[in-house]
Amino acid sequence: MNLYSVLETGFPKDKTACAIETPEGKYYSWDDLEKATSKLANLLSSLELPKGSRIAVQVEKSPEALFLYLATIKAGLVYLPLNTAYQSAEIEYFLDNAKPGAVICSPKNFAWFSQLAFKANTEFVFTLGEQRDGTLLERAAAHSDQFKTVARQDDDLAAILYTSGTTGRSKGAMLSHKNLSSNAKVLKDFWHWQKGDVLLHALPIFHVHGLFVASHGALINGSKMIWLPKLDIAQLLKYLPQSTVMMGVPTFYTRLLAEPKFDAKVCANMRLFIAGSAPLLTETFNDFIARTGHTILERYGMSETAMLTSNSYSGKRVAGAVGVPLPGVKVRVVGDDSKLCGVNEVGNVQVQGPNVFSGYWQMPEKTKEEFTADGWFKTGDVGRWGGSTTAGPVPDEYLCIVGRSKDLIISGGYNIYPKEIESFIDEMTGVEESAVIGIPHPDFGEAVLAVVVPKKGAELDPAGIIAELKGKIANFKVPKRVIIVSELPRNAMGKVQKNILRQEYTTA
Ligand code: ATP
Ligand code: MG
Repeated sequence: MNLYSVLETGFPKDKTACAIETPEGKYYSWDDLEKATSKLANLLSSLELPKGSRIAVQVEKSPEALFLYLATIKAGLVYLPLNTAYQSAEIEYFLDNAKPGAVICSPKNFAWFSQLAFKANTEFVFTLGEQRDGTLLERAAAHSDQFKTVARQDDDLAAILYTSGTTGRSKGAMLSHKNLSSNAKVLKDFWHWQKGDVLLHALPIFHVHGLFVASHGALINGSKMIWLPKLDIAQLLKYLPQSTVMMGVPTFYTRLLAEPKFDAKVCANMRLFIAGSAPLLTETFNDFIARTGHTILERYGMSETAMLTSNSYSGKRVAGAVGVPLPGVKVRVVGDDSKLCGVNEVGNVQVQGPNVFSGYWQMPEKTKEEFTADGWFKTGDVGRWGGSTTAGPVPDEYLCIVGRSKDLIISGGYNIYPKEIESFIDEMTGVEESAVIGIPHPDFGEAVLAVVVPKKGAELDPAGIIAELKGKIANFKVPKRVIIVSELPRNAMGKVQKNILRQEYTTA
C-alpha cells in the first residue's frame, strides 16, 4: 500500500484544522496541505518519469518542502533528500550516483546545481525557496488540486535516504513503502500519540529523524506541527508551552539546559520529549529531570531501518539504554563467532523486521556484506542487553549501545569500547564531553587517545585526567594521551565524527 494512503488514515475529519504553523505566523490547514500536495503530485506526474524515478531534493526546510516530499510519495515516485549543508562536490557525487529524474534545489544554488544535474542526465530542474519562491510552485499552480494517490506495492521504493556519513562515505538506503509505513504505525501506538498532540518540529527534514520519525508521527496522528526552520533555542522556548511532543538530537537538550530561562513552567504542557540519532549523556538525562520533571525517552534507529528500539512510554526510561525492540522488530546481539550473547555480554547488534531496508542503492557488494546469510542486517553498532551504566543497573531486556564496531579499539589484543572510557571522563569535574579513539601504535596495534572538551571556564589537566582514570579502569584502557580541545567535530546531525579525529591525531 502507498505510504501516503497509510499516513492519510490519521488526517483529521475537520480539514479546516491547523496542520502546520510557522514562526512567521503562517497557518496551513489540512485542506491546504492536501491541496498543495496534490498540485505538486500532478506536476511531478506530468513529467511522465518512469516508475522508480528518483526526485532529488536539496532545499531549505519549509512547509512546501514537506508537501513536496508527500507529493513525491503520493505520485509513486522515489524521494531522495539531500543534506542542505552539502556543497557542489558532494552534490556532484550524489546526483551522479542517484541519476534522478528530476531535481529541486534552492533558487540561490540554481546555477551550479542545474549544471551538475545536466551532467547527471537529469531532465528536469526546479527551484524551491523558503518563502514560497522558485519555479516549482509557479509550475504547480497551474495544476489541479485533486490527485488520486498512485497505487504502490509494499516492496516498491518510497525513498532513498543517504546515511549521515559518520563512519565514511554516505550510502543510499533504499526504503520501501512498507518499511516506512510499518514503522509509523508502530511508533504511533508505542509513544501513545493522542488527540490534541502538537509536535514541535525543529529537526532537519533530510534525515530519518526529522522526515520520518517526527513528521510521520504527527501526520499519521492528524496532529498539528509547529514547524521551525532550524534549531533555535529562543523559538523552542517560545513554542514549548504550546506543544506536547518534541523530538531532538541530544544537542537540543544540552542547549536547552544551557538556557537559564528553560524550566518546568516552560514544559508544563509537554507530554513527551524524545531523543535519538546519537547517544544521550547520562548527565543530560539527569539534569533534564531535575530541571523540568520530564524524563527524556531515548530511542535507537538508523537510516537503513528507521526506528528499532525505544525506552518505554509508561514503564522504565533508563539513562544510557535505548530500550526494548519495537513491536515486530527483532534485535539480536551476537559475538564475532556468531553466537548469541547473553545478558551483559557485548557483541554486534543485528536486526530484522518489516522496517529493515532492502539494500544500498547501487552497492550490491556492500549490501551483501551487511546482511548475514540468515537474513539479519548488521547495524554496525556494538551493544549489550542489560548490565549497568554509570547511572545504575539496566533491565535485562533493555539494549545498550556501546559504540560502533568501526570505533572499537583493539589494543594489545584487548577489545576496548570507547564509550566506557568516555563515560568515566564525562563524569569528571570540569568536563563537558569527550571522544575516545584508537590510534596506530607500534607495540599494541592501537593505543587509546582521549579528546576532551572542558566546561565553559574550566581548566583541565591532561595528566590529572589520566591519573584519575588509573584508579578506575584497567591500565590497558587508560588513554596514553589526553588532548584538550574547545569542541568536537560534528556532522550536520550533531554526531561526533571520530574518523576526523583519527585522521588528525595519529600518534600517541
Ligand atoms: P554512516 O552510516 O554513513 O556512517 P550514520 O550511521 O551516523 O552514518 P545514520 O543512519 O544517520 O547515519 O545514523 C544511525 C546511527 O546513529 C546508528 O547506527 C547509531 O550508531 C547512531 N544512533 C542512533 N540513535 C542512537 C542512540 N539513541 N544512541 C546511540 N547511538 C545512536
Ligand atoms: Mg550507519
